[in-house]
Amino acid sequence: MGNALRLRLEDVPTNPYAEQLERGFRWLSFTPELEAEYQRYQLDHTFALRRIALLVCVLILLVQGLLDFRFIAPPVLWWVLAVRAGVLVLLLACVGLVLQRRHIVLLGPLTLVCVLAMGLGTAVVVVMAQWVFPGYPSEGLLLICLGSYFLAGLRLPEAIGVSLAILLGYAALEFTIGTQSSLLSQLLYLLFGNLIGAVGCYQLEYKSREQFLIRCLLRQLADHDSLTGLHNRRSFHRHLDALWRQSQREGQPLAMLLGDIDHFKRYNDCYGHQAGDETLQQVARLFEQAARRPLDMAVRLGGEEFALLLYGSTAHDARERAEALCARLRNLAIEHAASPSGVVTLSLGGVSIVNGDVLRSIDELYVRADQALYRAKASGRNRVVMASDRLDLEPEVDLDRDDFRQDL
Ligand code: GH3
Ligand code: MG
Ligand code: MG
Repeated sequence: MGNALRLRLEDVPTNPYAEQLERGFRWLSFTPELEAEYQRYQLDHTFALRRIALLVCVLILLVQGLLDFRFIAPPVLWWVLAVRAGVLVLLLACVGLVLQRRHIVLLGPLTLVCVLAMGLGTAVVVVMAQWVFPGYPSEGLLLICLGSYFLAGLRLPEAIGVSLAILLGYAALEFTIGTQSSLLSQLLYLLFGNLIGAVGCYQLEYKSREQFLIRCLLRQLADHDSLTGLHNRRSFHRHLDALWRQSQREGQPLAMLLGDIDHFKRYNDCYGHQAGDETLQQVARLFEQAARRPLDMAVRLGGEEFALLLYGSTAHDARERAEALCARLRNLAIEHAASPSGVVTLSLGGVSIVNGDVLRSIDELYVRADQALYRAKASGRNRVVMASDRLDLEPEVDLDRDDFRQDL
């Protein structure tokens, strides 16, 4: 990796994509989780290319079938056409399956089967045709090998594997039933052609992997907060929207907790901005630990304000999680001399809705959680209030409702 990119990566918070870029991937492999993600991305991004490659193969087969009439006489012609027809039927079956995008998991194996069928079918035709027409060209094999490196969307090991299988199959046929005329030079051309293909394919795959990592890294940076590494407001809204629709579809509850650190301005004034940043990071870790299920999400909305989205959590469950979070923060006992409790604390407001709840829009969920948070602040801070709670407000003297609501 270039020095310029390495220097810039030093400023990026730790994440698997930046780490992999730093570590390099000259053997064209990532860590197991990233590798699986890359292979899914690669399948998806080569879908159109593989479809085109299949159609090109069908076209070439049809043209070759027509040319066979010109160069080969019966009865060998009938054998050759039978082989071509067999390969064509297989390719058409694969085209049918691939065109329905829902069979995308089959895309990898089907591509290999098609390339192998094209290659071995051509090898059989070449060997048979040379019985009756010694000058019958074998370059078709080379074209298929190059196609496997550059057109079929295969990864390098797949392309090398399938091309070598074609080459070995051809050599075996020549040695068993072939005429072996100028076999050595044909095999050498095939080998060198494969070498060129492999070097080119390596370059392409390297670039494709680099592009994948950079894309994912950019997405990660755009969706996460740089100080705490939590999701930011942008991805919060996107995820909330998706969860909201999913909860309506599946009839599951959806809970939202909004958290705001108490007297954080005073904390900064007392201990400095740097200490404030470190505290924000500690609080962020607690939110992250609280979002433990796959669809949960911990978010830094901005400043000292955080949110938790809890899929499938009832109000009772959400309250327990919120109380546990507040308790864990108190247990950290981060000194805060300017706060009545003497340590850094958090106020949380929450709401949980189920299918039956009538909301005008998803924004109303946010408004309800925000109101609950306001009540948590107004009734003394360092506590959890759910939207459904009945509370007698005991506002603290220094609570400025307008300032507070501006923040949210
Ligand atoms: P309340 O209990 O009512 O929430 O009082 P508060 O002081 O926490 O609320 P206020 O909204 O008045 O102050 C929020 C403070 O958060 C102001 C700002 O200095 C601080 N803050 C916002 N973003 C950051 C940040 O990224 N780092 C640090 N260190 N402080 C931040
Ligand atoms: Mg605050
Ligand atoms: Mg605030």
